[in-house]
This record gives sequence, structure tokens and C-alpha cells, in this order.
Amino acid sequence: GREAILQGEDSPNEEDKSLRPQSISEMVGQLEVRERLKVVVDAAVKRDEPLGHILFDGPPGLGKTTFATCIPKDLGVNFQLTSGPALQAPKDLIPYLTNADEKSILFIDEIHRLPKSVEEYLYTAMEDFRIDIVLGEGTNARTINLQVKPFTLIGATTRSGMLTAPLRDRFPLREHLDFYTHEELAEIIRRNSRKLDVTIEDDASLEISERSRGTPRVANNRLRWIRDYVTSKADGHISLQLARDAMAMQEIDALGLDNQDRKYLTTIIRVFGGGPAGVEAIAHTMNAAPETLADEVEPFLLRTELLVRTPRGRMVTTKAVEHIQTHIGR
Ligand code: ATP
Repeated sequence: GREAILQGEDSPNEEDKSLRPQSISEMVGQLEVRERLKVVVDAAVKRDEPLGHILFDGPPGLGKTTFATCIPKDLGVNFQLTSGPALQAPKDLIPYLTNADEKSILFIDEIHRLPKSVEEYLYTAMEDFRIDIVLGEGTNARTINLQVKPFTLIGATTRSGMLTAPLRDRFPLREHLDFYTHEELAEIIRRNSRKLDVTIEDDASLEISERSRGTPRVANNRLRWIRDYVTSKADGHISLQLARDAMAMQEIDALGLDNQDRKYLTTIIRVFGGGPAGVEAIAHTMNAAPETLADEVEPFLLRTELLVRTPRGRMVTTKAVEHIQTHIGR
């Protein structure tokens, strides 16, 4: 078959890829999601049909891209990758659709950022595997209707609420990825320590997992930093104490919050009297992008009940106030 075309990848560095599972069976956690995927994958293989389109949603770093890259590997089919912001007009999408082999996977990351025109162009491609192409210009222009090979679209979004209903409805399987448990993250940390060729105590991997905001990508970042720390300051073995010292140096607190998370909470407390405050106003005060706050900071704070969302805006909880006080008191 044709070689997979990798384009427009704005994702992590090489090292992140080296830690990425290569097959769904290598993935940790997300059990229900993996079981449902296994059903549709098995059925597609048995019927020798393309897999139905799949939509993944959830906060960043929970494994949407990992799922999207493991599925084609497990199926032994080609894979193309692009993203919503890279597809500015229908013509940007055409090469992907015409290059797609039968049963291959086309992954569109940040699919909620597709312009309306591209989204509408996708509808018939997803439903009937047909696209319209305009040949020529001006009065000579004519439209031809082209059949493309039956492919599978995998979409990923941090904001399923921003998807239009017609697009969402075209995905027969929609999966929400939720935060990981401490035990699951500890398992990821143990496995990745082996991949990074560093030894680690069990209590250290648990401590790191408890301070990784339920997110594998965060756990990997913590682990890499701690590996550097123990290599620089000690003999390269990760003990509980060294893990704690390394995270203290990065100002990661007991709940796993970093400076940006705490700055968000203190801004609401100090500037907005604890809230309610709109995310735009908070972002403006912090000199941050509202999207970053909504995607990367708020989900975990909401999940851990440090923050609540009300119709009038974001409010911190008593738990958040107490946490900030103890942190500053230290
Ligand atoms: P984004 O929305 O930013 O693209 P994402 O949800 O696609 O984020 P990934 O890039 O798939 O997140 O995951 C980040 C890293 O976390 C991966 O490179 C991988 O090392 C690790 N990871 C994610 N999910 C799992 C898992 N279930 N098991 C093991 N490792 C995982």
C-alpha cells in the first residue's frame, strides 16, 4: 500500500512518541472504551468492511491521538493525520480524501476547529464516500462528482459541545475519555520508566501519579523531569524522596497543581472575590488565552471540586481557598 502521509502534526516531540503505546492492548485504563472499540474493530474485520467513523472527546493528554494511531496499527491499514486548523478550505481536504486507501484511517485532530465550509464538505465524504470537485475557473468551471474509497474518519476534540449536531451525528461511535485513576497512572509511569531506562520505587511511581492531574501526558512530563533530576543530583534511581524533591523544585504541589493552576485559582480569589467570574475576564487578568484555561486548566479543577461552573461564571470552592492558603502558608 501507499505510505502513510503524516502532515500538519503539531503534537509532542519525538520522545513523547517513543512513550506512546503501539497497540490498543498496550494501553492502560479506559477499559470500557477499549472494549467497545474491540467490538467494532472485530466486527469490521470479520465483515471485511471499513470501520465506522469514530469521535473521541475529552481534555488534552488523555489518549485521543494514541487511540487514533493504535487503531490503524491494530487493523494493519494506512493512516493519515491532519487537524482542524490545517484545513482552511475544502481544497485542503481533497488530497487526504483522494489519497485514502480502502479501510484506511484519516485522523482529524481538533475537529471542532474546522471551518463550516470544510465541515459541510466532509458530510457526503463520510456518508456516501463521494466528493464534488470543481474543475476549471469562471464560466468554464464544471463540477464533477468523484467516488473516494471507503475510509474511516477518526475525529478528536477537546470540546464536543462545539461540534455541530450534523457532524456529531455522522459518527456512529462517540467515545469520551475521562481522567485516569492513580493506579492507572502509576502503571503508565512504571512502564515508561522501563522505556526510559530508569529504575523507580513503587511508592515513587504512586506519588508521581497522585500529582499528575489524572493525565498520562502530565505523568510522562513529570517522569522525564524527575529522571533528569535524579541523573543530575543522584545516581539515576528514582526514590520517593527524590521524586518529591524534584517536584518541589518545579513547584508542583500535593494535589499536582502547577503555577498556572494556582495562578488561576488565586486570580479568582483575589481579583474576583472568589467568583463568579467569566473565563474571558479571568484569562484577561492572567494574560492567558481563554481556550488554554478552558481546555487545560479548568477540567481538572472542576473534576477535583476546586472549581464550580455556575450560569454566572466560574467560582472557587472552600476546598480551593484552603488549598491555596496552605500552599502559600508553607
Ligand atoms: P491531545 O488532545 O493534546 O492530542 P491526546 O488526548 O491526544 O492529547 P495523547 O497524545 O494521545 O493525548 O497522549 C499523550 C501521551 O500520554 C501519549 O504519548 C502516551 O505516551 C500517553 N498515553 C495516553 N494514553 C495512554 C494510555 N491509555 N496508556 C498509556 N499511555 C498513554
